[in-house]
Amino acid sequence: MVLEADICIAGGGAAGITLARELRGSGAEVLLLEAGPESRDEDHQTLYEGETSGEAEASQLKNSRLRAFGGTTGHWSGWCQALEPIDFESRDWIPRSGWPLDRETLDPFYRRAVDDVEIGASEWDASTIMERAGRALLPFDETNATSVLYQYSPPTRFGEAYGDDLEAADNVEVYLHANVVHIALNANGDAVERLECETLEGNSFTAEADEFVVAMGGLETPRMLLASNDRKSDGIGNDHGHHEQWLEWLRGGAHHMGTTRMSARPEKGVVDADCKVHGVDNLYVGGSSIYPSVGAANPTLTLVALAIRLADHLEAQV
Ligand SMILES: Cc1cc2nc3c(=O)[nH]c(=O)nc-3n(C[C@H](O)[C@H](O)[C@H](O)COP(=O)(O)OP(=O)(O)OC[C@H]3O[C@@H](n4cnc5c(N)ncnc54)[C@H](O)[C@@H]3O)c2cc1C
Repeated sequence: MVLEADICIAGGGAAGITLARELRGSGAEVLLLEAGPESRDEDHQTLYEGETSGEAEASQLKNSRLRAFGGTTGHWSGWCQALEPIDFESRDWIPRSGWPLDRETLDPFYRRAVDDVEIGASEWDASTIMERAGRALLPFDETNATSVLYQYSPPTRFGEAYGDDLEAADNVEVYLHANVVHIALNANGDAVERLECETLEGNSFTAEADEFVVAMGGLETPRMLLASNDRKSDGIGNDHGHHEQWLEWLRGGAHHMGTTRMSARPEKGVVDADCKVHGVDNLYVGGSSIYPSVGAANPTLTLVALAIRLADHLEAQV
């Protein structure tokens, strides 16, 4: 079986669902391929087992991710904060820091993302908020400590909250149990031809589209790019050995970031400022794997903002 669309999104977590929702009514036919079922089950979750080296605990591979519609938002805690302007800047003391875009560029998308995670306005200055509430900040000596503002999502479970929106959209088709097992490039290795998928029952099908987005989480995305190595022996987007290096650096924990970093030049990262894989015309990445550097903020609000920005970009392409 061959499924066809204008835009094919692999992974129905926070990033994939946000993208698909943004593309409702866009005129583009959208396909969302989600590996898992509607809610967590052990058979699909077992696919997230694996081995680790170094500090990372192997149990974290299975426990820190959810392979079901809605992805890891099925058990996220909902802490939200925008990255600070300095988090986007290049700093001598942080190797390979610096984004090819700045906070100001992301601000309009943060303003839209707050609705997706169901928090208040995109307002992050603690003193402004406290002043507005007629209350004083805690009296810290600002040379040693500073007040920061977090907002708390309910937390939004993206699958439960937004499944009906996608069901109702005429131009969006969601396929569950659709495990992408291979990204097939053309003979030149500069464009994706199709995604190959399998169900746990052993059925297989392919998805063809003009544009593809891989949004399978911070570990599965680089794993799939590396494993799709029939055209390029080091995997997709790995001409300069990035993924292996960054997967190696990844420590255990709930937030998987920086495994397919964003960079202006291909020598420094995997995707460009539009989230497009360097050297591959029609392949994009959604999710926190593209963060080149971060600060203290948790990742989800920013990846939702980036998904909204990517949806705008894709809509302009098709
Ligand atoms: C315990 C815990 C608490 C957290 N708390 C917070 C918090 O307070 N604040 C915060 O900002 N973040 C938090 N996070 C992180 C947050 O959950 C993630 O940032 C967010 O879910 C990532 O979204 P994503 O779409 O990139 O990936 P995911 O949500 O993981 O979605 C990836 C999707 O891709 C699918 N997929 C995987 N492989 C394939 C394949 N081969 N084919 C097709 N589909 C596939 C998966 O089934 C999944 O649905 C927490 C995480 C954990 C584990």
